[in-house]
Amino acid sequence: LPPTIPHAAQAAARTWPDAPAVLENGEVWSFAELWQRSRAAASALLGRGIGAGDRVAIWAPNSREWIVAAIAVMSCGAAVVTLNTRLKGREAGDILRRTNAKLLFTVEGFLGIDYRALIADEDLPALEGTLLLEHDLVQGGKGADDPAVDGALVGIDADTVSDILFTSGTTGSPKGVLMTYGRVLPQAAVWCQNTGLREGDRYLIANPFFHSFGMKVGWVACILSGAVAVPMPQFDVGQAIELIERERITFMPGPPTIFQMLLAELDKRKWDCSSLRGGTTGAASVPPALVERIREDLGMVDLITAYGMTECVNITTCVPGDDAETIARTCGKAFPGNEVRIADAQGNEVPRGQTGEVQVRGQGVMLGYLDNAQATAETIDADGWLHTGDVGTMDERGYVRITDRMKDLYISGGFNVYPAEVEKLLAEHPAIGMAAVVGVPDERLGEVGRAFVVLRPGATASEAELIAWSRENMANYKVPRSFVLVEDLPRNAAGKVLKTELR
Ligand code: ATP
Ligand code: MG
Repeated sequence: LPPTIPHAAQAAARTWPDAPAVLENGEVWSFAELWQRSRAAASALLGRGIGAGDRVAIWAPNSREWIVAAIAVMSCGAAVVTLNTRLKGREAGDILRRTNAKLLFTVEGFLGIDYRALIADEDLPALEGTLLLEHDLVQGGKGADDPAVDGALVGIDADTVSDILFTSGTTGSPKGVLMTYGRVLPQAAVWCQNTGLREGDRYLIANPFFHSFGMKVGWVACILSGAVAVPMPQFDVGQAIELIERERITFMPGPPTIFQMLLAELDKRKWDCSSLRGGTTGAASVPPALVERIREDLGMVDLITAYGMTECVNITTCVPGDDAETIARTCGKAFPGNEVRIADAQGNEVPRGQTGEVQVRGQGVMLGYLDNAQATAETIDADGWLHTGDVGTMDERGYVRITDRMKDLYISGGFNVYPAEVEKLLAEHPAIGMAAVVGVPDERLGEVGRAFVVLRPGATASEAELIAWSRENMANYKVPRSFVLVEDLPRNAAGKVLKTELR
């Protein structure tokens, strides 16, 4: 295995020089071309004084230039900082300041958003310039043959910080996560083994590159395995089908809703999904019937499920060939290179089947949080266990099931209540479109649930009706004592509901 991502790109250019590496708008870049372009971009960055220990940010939707920029930044010995394309100016400014980013790569515009204008008023003393991926990648550089690039490559190895990605900020403010090549690359390689990703595969990547998944087991996995990356700037079911048919896509990841949309189209008209062979999905719950349809009707036999977080490259995964029930109900077993356990508040492993905090130790665990030794010490204990903050169980076979987040769990009259479970039950009420439940203080019971509910278009329901229905359909201690009808739920840039705001 090559020591770093740029070395992996270099090795890919040697192993598969003429094989397609990236496919965008019907245009192909071979692995040789991808590496040449990355070198030319690295030369330009070196010319701008970027070097070991620097940080360069990328704030852009998925594209082939995004990949070139990232490999170029890494080749210089600098770390890539990624920004979610949904961030507003102040949030982006905060990340650019906290990372002391020296340069920012962005695009002219995306979905009508002008990123440069968004941060125009931010005070960014370390930022020396903003470059456009469309025009400025190689500007001022000495070209792909610049020997300075080889000099820089000698300076990076498995212990170099590869990237600083930020958590979604679901439970607090986003935290910067320091990763090294020695963590990212071997874990991406294991993921390639699990999915069977290989030369000839055509991988549709709609998962954003700024997130761990789209990057580390997205385009990085392609470079490792010789598969073609087909970047998608944002998911649209019509466009996805067009790409699957035209580019003969073999592999694609996505949340269950994406597969539901593809299947709904298939019910309406015959579209050609015969090239598909596998993919990944994952969420709190995937209906078993959906897993079966993904395999049988979409032909994605090698379907696996994943659970992960920014702080760990990848934690668990189901193995191809797992039955639909296992894929639907669990998020897999410990990812090779890592151990997973379920622990109680004292840090002792609980018996199989019992609920506790999911903890992970091993290769994928981050180096630490950016400039936050206290948060790092609170998250990774003295024995190296990363406290994920997620609640779950593990069965006899080692398969993990995520129940909820620790911070969301509340205790009502002595019973643990997992809001995620109550929300799933509420979603079965015909009038309820979406629900979010939080614990609120109660004199008698300690805490009770309060549900924030968005009704389906045209539907009506009163608080009294919803409480009565809940009493019929769930254990008493789970029944929310109050319902608040809202137009929408507060969400962060990752689309996750902000429980802290609801509380
Ligand atoms: P923050 O840490 O800032 O509060 P976040 O935890 O939402 O935000 P991410 O690192 O993007 O930031 O998300 C990881 C979290 O997403 C996990 O800790 C878990 O709660 C949730 N998650 C990921 N995969 C799954 C899955 N398959 N099933 C259930 N939950 C999942
Ligand atoms: Mg988190």
